[in-house]
Amino acid sequence: VSSTGRLPRWLKRPIPKSNSNHLTDSLMEEYGLETVCDNAKCPNRMECYSQQTATFMVLGNVCTRPCGFCAVSRGRPPAAPAVDEPERIAKAAERLGLKHVVITSVTRDDLPDGGADHFHNCVIAVRERTGATTEVLTPDFVHCKESLARVIEAKPTVFNHNMETVPRLYRRVRGPKSDYAWTLQMMREVKRYDAEVKTKSGLMLGLGEERGELLDALSDLREHDVDFLTLGQYLQPGDKYLPVVRYVPPEEFDELADIAKSMGFKKVASGPFVRSSYHARDMAETE
Ligand code: SF4
Ligand code: SF4
Repeated sequence: VSSTGRLPRWLKRPIPKSNSNHLTDSLMEEYGLETVCDNAKCPNRMECYSQQTATFMVLGNVCTRPCGFCAVSRGRPPAAPAVDEPERIAKAAERLGLKHVVITSVTRDDLPDGGADHFHNCVIAVRERTGATTEVLTPDFVHCKESLARVIEAKPTVFNHNMETVPRLYRRVRGPKSDYAWTLQMMREVKRYDAEVKTKSGLMLGLGEERGELLDALSDLREHDVDFLTLGQYLQPGDKYLPVVRYVPPEEFDELADIAKSMGFKKVASGPFVRSSYHARDMAETE
């Protein structure tokens, strides 16, 4: 099935008429913040907000990487991280009454530490002000163990870095700077720095991966002691992005969830609409 063809029935679901949340919108404006939820017009917003979860995007909205699946703007990001952003996020999270705060960013290859110190400060500011659990959904910090250690030093509840796809498709999907071995190594290093931090990763399905390759990738994650897994359908954001090779039926997502659980993942979210921060609070609270 090509991505330009009609969507299969299971991907047609009514778009809620008003899934924008007035309080969230006005607070984001007041504090000069961005959520991925709103930026991506994520269809899960009502559900996530009602579960007191939101995903903040820090370090600007211009990315230095060219991933073929992602609609975020590319180019030269603006200046250094805003030093008051961690506090602004903490204040917005407090006023929204969030219980689980996901912090993510574009990739900032222009910063010496890839933005690690900023992630660190955001986690601490949110926890100190709100007591909420925290989850960092990070870029790959260009193979820098010190950067990774700086993030973990802040003790996020969950460290999340998406594998995105199988190794054969890595360069095509994630660009020339991506490195499958480093993705896995990061997971191991996190546990080595702090065994209490939960690790999480996710893949998009439908990019041309074979079933055997997918199962091997899941085994690799388990071999690196990854706790939580998300599997969702890749959807092409526009004509210039990678095409969808296959729409994976819901029953297959269910079957993959069973396989993943039998491999030892503690919690699995698998389904056509699953995104890496979907039901994040629920996952974070499994322990
Ligand atoms: Fe936000 Fe993620 Fe929930 Fe979408 S799935 S609304 S991006 S927290
Ligand atoms: Fe998008 Fe992240 Fe890739 Fe940047 S690194 S293009 S934000 S997926």
